[in-house]
Amino acid sequence: DAEVALVGRSNVGKSTLMRELTGHDFDTGGSPGVTREPNHYDWASEDFVITDLPGFGFMSGVDEDHREQIKTNIVHYLEEYAENVLVAVLVVDGKSVIDIIDRHSGPDEIPYDVEMFHFLRDLEIPVVVAVNKMDKVDDRDERLNELCDRLGLYPPWKQWQETIAPITAKQGQIEPLNEAVREHLHEQQRDDL
Ligand code: GDP
Repeated sequence: DAEVALVGRSNVGKSTLMRELTGHDFDTGGSPGVTREPNHYDWASEDFVITDLPGFGFMSGVDEDHREQIKTNIVHYLEEYAENVLVAVLVVDGKSVIDIIDRHSGPDEIPYDVEMFHFLRDLEIPVVVAVNKMDKVDDRDERLNELCDRLGLYPPWKQWQETIAPITAKQGQIEPLNEAVREHLHEQQRDDL
């Protein structure tokens, strides 16, 4: 089955977004790190499944080894199913993503989100970055431009609307994400003709 994969750190709002996308209820606000296996659900109106991959990165109560294991599983899953994955949605928290990226940037360190973005691109999976919790962000354009910069995309972000999708999942404001995903799906259908 054609597949859209959702990846992201824990607590960025992946379950909330899944609920919006699928109409199913998910365990939100539950204990971090609970979703560990890939889950498949049908995307409401479109003809593909959506896979919720486990949250990665820091989770309170989950030790380092376990976190690494989760990340390794995600990487293996994506490598194995790259052929099927039409689009990957990398969910980030718009409020904290720049701070987190900058905190983890250094000579020997690549932040998870940036690493995942490039990893997906290396697998030739089109990536849409769903920048969630935009209701908490005041300097919207500036924040999104900074994110482009950190991901190696030349700002302004408005040039990247197929890649950068500001959303507020909690309020059901996810149209930019739907648009971006649709664009990629249609592009690929055209390529297949
Ligand atoms: P997950 O761990 O990535 O699955 O994250 P959840 O979906 O459980 O959400 C984590 C927290 O972020 C919850 O308290 C949600 O209510 C909150 N949240 C999710 N989406 C939004 C949003 O668009 N705006 C705001 N302000 N909070 C959100």
